[in-house]
Amino acid sequence: MATPKKWVYLFHEGNAQMRDLLGGKGAGLSEMTNAGLPVPPGFTITTEACNAYYDNYRPGAEKRFPPGLWDQVLSAMQWVEKKTGKGFGDPQNPLLVSVRSGAKFSMPGMMDTVLNLGLNEETLQGLARLTGNERFAYDAYRRFIAMFGRIVMGIEAKKFDEILERAKESRGVKLDTELDTAALKEIVAQYKALYKEEIGSEFPGDPYEQLRLAIGAVFGSWMGKRAVDYRNAQKIAHDLGTAVNIVTMVFGNMGDDSGTGVAFTRNPSTGEKVLYGEYLQNAQGEDVVAGIRTPKKIAQLAQDMPAVYEQFQQVAAMLEKHYRDMQDLEFTVERGKLWMLQTRSGKRTAAAAIKIAVDMAKEGLITREEAVLRVEPADVNKLLLPRFDEESKKKAQLLAKGLNASPGDATGLAIFDPDTAERLGKEKKSVILVRAETSPEDVHGMLQAKGILTQRGGATSHAAVVARMLGLPCVAGCEAIRVDEEQHLLTAGNLTVREGDEISISGSTGEVFLGRIQTIPPEFEKEADLITLLSWADKIRKLGVWANADYPRDAVQSRKFGAEGIGLCRTEHMFMEVDRLPIVQKMILSKTDAERQSYLDQLLPIQRGDFIGILKAMAGLPVIIRLIDPPLHEFLPNYEELLVEVTGLRVAASAAKDPELTRLLSEKEEMLKAVSSMREANPMLGLRGCRLGITMPQITTMQVRAIFEAACILKKEGVDVHPEVMIPLVGHVNELKNQQVALEAEAKKVMAEQGVTVDYKFGTMIEIPRAALTSDQIAEYAQFYSFGTNDLTQTTFGYSRDDAEGKFLLKYVEDKILPANPFQTLDRDGVGALMRICVEKGRKVRPDIEIGICGEHGGDPASIQLCHELGLKYVSCSTYRVPVARLAAAQAALQQVEKDK
Ligand code: ADP
Ligand code: MG
Ligand code: MG
Repeated sequence: MATPKKWVYLFHEGNAQMRDLLGGKGAGLSEMTNAGLPVPPGFTITTEACNAYYDNYRPGAEKRFPPGLWDQVLSAMQWVEKKTGKGFGDPQNPLLVSVRSGAKFSMPGMMDTVLNLGLNEETLQGLARLTGNERFAYDAYRRFIAMFGRIVMGIEAKKFDEILERAKESRGVKLDTELDTAALKEIVAQYKALYKEEIGSEFPGDPYEQLRLAIGAVFGSWMGKRAVDYRNAQKIAHDLGTAVNIVTMVFGNMGDDSGTGVAFTRNPSTGEKVLYGEYLQNAQGEDVVAGIRTPKKIAQLAQDMPAVYEQFQQVAAMLEKHYRDMQDLEFTVERGKLWMLQTRSGKRTAAAAIKIAVDMAKEGLITREEAVLRVEPADVNKLLLPRFDEESKKKAQLLAKGLNASPGDATGLAIFDPDTAERLGKEKKSVILVRAETSPEDVHGMLQAKGILTQRGGATSHAAVVARMLGLPCVAGCEAIRVDEEQHLLTAGNLTVREGDEISISGSTGEVFLGRIQTIPPEFEKEADLITLLSWADKIRKLGVWANADYPRDAVQSRKFGAEGIGLCRTEHMFMEVDRLPIVQKMILSKTDAERQSYLDQLLPIQRGDFIGILKAMAGLPVIIRLIDPPLHEFLPNYEELLVEVTGLRVAASAAKDPELTRLLSEKEEMLKAVSSMREANPMLGLRGCRLGITMPQITTMQVRAIFEAACILKKEGVDVHPEVMIPLVGHVNELKNQQVALEAEAKKVMAEQGVTVDYKFGTMIEIPRAALTSDQIAEYAQFYSFGTNDLTQTTFGYSRDDAEGKFLLKYVEDKILPANPFQTLDRDGVGALMRICVEKGRKVRPDIEIGICGEHGGDPASIQLCHELGLKYVSCSTYRVPVARLAAAQAALQQVEKDK
């Protein structure tokens, strides 16, 4: 027989690189063991064993331990026995262990840890004798029976809790610690009776039987509903498998010289470089996380156990240096001796991620390039999320204050159960999930909420950890409120908030308010670390970052965010403004060229003013101005509404014989006729873009005149201007030729009139597949291209975006017919291929042609990566995405360097 695979690794046999095989927790325990840190002896069962348990997910396969696994577990246990000098099941000197799940990524839904495994009626006596503390032994035993019954065998926690509560009540005590040995003995007996009643057999006394069942339960939890749901939501593969860690028990509940805690090497909320965490004296691990007792700040450990604190600080510093990242640590102190139980890279808020990356680079711990790679583009977005408007906040009534567990401000309906939160969230309602405390069963509701509020639990409670991971504002441990999950309400003093009432929470300050508070955009200028990080990104990236801005104020803001040009200025918005629209409508409805020209003459100075504003704001930088693009009927009243109005007027006019009514009627009838004549079956593919300029050249001629008059005036004032005129929706070179020749002539005419020349370009938007495919012809005329990837995606897929997103696209993405929404992330294989052809053919004809992208995709990190690969000159995105794009462009450049290695 072939030797079975190695399923089991003693801690010293693994290392940090083995996360795939040993899971995050196992790899961390191995790495700490090898670094000489105090880790209780133990071993890890591999993720491969978990996959083999499922027979690698073959449908219908029986689930069982793969051959060799149990033997390897037994010999690893022998090794641990030798190492600790204790015996598993030995009443004289019992070895107890914890059984802990640990996948590559920590995830809710995985089996909770079982502590104190190995206890039974006999080993219990040994533990009592050895510690000289019978009460402690019984306390450990009753915890074990409840944990094993609940976690491994699936008995409802409530049933164990009821027994405990009754015992406390009948003895008139409040805390578990006040129960004496006799009481604990009674509880143990009742727990065992409950176990037998629920499971139908005695509580297993054989430690090896306990161990086998617990390992099976960890494997079982990998494909449990909660874990599967979570992986689906987070797009984590199901065949990663979970590892199982078996760790010698150490006891934090052996008196006041013992304790247990969790700590981060830096503050995970702000990033500040201080040990941050909590601990409980005389407690076992799960007590801190469960939020049963309110823990003390880690700094308090320095007073309570100075030597331990000193050692822990050193360990923390060493681990951070070793991993070159902020660590999240678990430790236990047993009678004055420190034990390390976990290390991993700590979850952090967006603000902390940025500060830590910048600080670590400044400390020389990581390079600037690494710092740039460490921050998720989404983190930059989060930092630029709206916050409470201070004025609006002043007017709001403060309800209570809790712990500021995950930053950001949110306002919404108070909802007290995760199912309703999920349902309303999916209906796009803004929901604040309010719970006494959260547990893994609540995650589906948290995923759909805008914020989380809990009554109990600290900065490392479930609610806080998950909220930080999801980037949700969270106020935890808000003890001043009382949450009644049964009645779906909360009370604070004499105030009551019922389900569906509006509340607002600030995860940044911990405040909870009654009612809705206005939110405002954040202040980029004050984000010093982000500004530093982006300045490093700027040195790395090859892509320029420009902005799409239609108004001078947007241009100014974009520039503050670091935009290096305007990639798209849409002129039609200028036509839409209330004071201009009537002139625009009269211009469109004009019967003669002369009449039309008279209205265009009125519009000219207005447009010139707009262009002066935007060119001035972008002095020294290129500004791409797109000529009129939408179909003209978009400037006229809606056909259906007009029809209703005219019908109404006809009835009224015939009844009243009022000359004013008659005049109005004929005016509206005229409009209706015009609108009706312009109606199109498919406006997206109709008379728009350059087709308008070709059929009605006066409009675009006026626009070009306005652009160049503005440019010349500014130039004469000493302002450095670089207008670029973009002709939209070209599909055939002759369309461009027709427009460009005429418009460039007009531009030259204006410059001659003004007696100055300005630096300018004429070019086109690439948004029709035919243009991309014939780019060698189009580049004969165009001095620049800008990919209009929204229309290019529409025309490549043959989708109209609104119809597609409203009707079938989300289903397509859900059913994996499409990998992603192509309007959010560029479709590499189709649209991307067209872009590549366009770039290559265009550059052959005009090597220095300026090519960029101005679709919404310009702010999407995955799309930015494609643009980098295509060697575009810049990406242009909406104002608030400029900072994200700067970072994403740098990351694309760094990833390219990695790939080329
Ligand atoms: P989680 O992933 O939920 O943190 P863990 O396996 O890390 O689960 O453990 C839960 C708690 O039990 C933690 O506080 C941990 O420190 C503690 N714990 C785990 N194993 C041991 C052990 N062998 N001795 C003492 N405490 C332990
Ligand atoms: Mg867990
Ligand atoms: Mg842990």
